[in-house]
Amino acid sequence: MESRRVLVVEDERVINDAVAARLRAEGFAVEQAYDGPGAVRLCAEAGPEAGPEVVVLDVMLPGFDGHEVCRRIQATKPVPVLMLTARDDEADILVGLAVGADDYLTKPFRMRELVARVRALLRRVDRAAELATRPSARLVAGDVVVETGTRRASVAGQEVRLTPTEFDLLARLAAVPGEVLTREQLLADVWDWPAASGTRTVDSHVKALRAKIGADRVRTVHGVGYALEPGEGP
Ligand code: CA
Repeated sequence: MESRRVLVVEDERVINDAVAARLRAEGFAVEQAYDGPGAVRLCAEAGPEAGPEVVVLDVMLPGFDGHEVCRRIQATKPVPVLMLTARDDEADILVGLAVGADDYLTKPFRMRELVARVRALLRRVDRAAELATRPSARLVAGDVVVETGTRRASVAGQEVRLTPTEFDLLARLAAVPGEVLTREQLLADVWDWPAASGTRTVDSHVKALRAKIGADRVRTVHGVGYALEPGEGP
């Protein structure tokens, strides 16, 4: 089987080399970039067919930062991005999610965890590709409509632009309107990430989703999880 392609973007060479070495040892084909412009150039030159399948992207970079890199590469071709942040700062994380990052890890991180996150992102890519070949499902929860085939969503007749992760999260919630899903369950179903250590990832994405579909649409059940509130009907 052909190696999956990962791009590692980090200006601190020691970290970049360590991440790249570990991913290569795990069987990935790894390319490395050390600044913002270099990462964008590498993606553009590779073209959509040969470009990275996952990008591991540090936020703090020379040239322009990881958020700008994410915005620019997502504009050409959607690719899953694992953002590395120096601080466990929610503002930082929300900006990352807004520009299309799918997941994030706070430094310092364990290599084992990084590899697991990269694999989870690839499984999601594969599953999305598989789903795309299936007949489309139309999930209707009141006035929230989610089309899995075209990956379009609308609320009260207005189309909403969602990142791939936000779409998957909304689709999961819309499949069981009104029903509470635990954060652990959402993490497993949407992120394919079984460990409970990433439940804040769920919270951050719910926050981003609320900003787009309306804060009252996703109900928080404290200590349990989230539920989609069906609106008034189509
Ligand atoms: Ca850096």
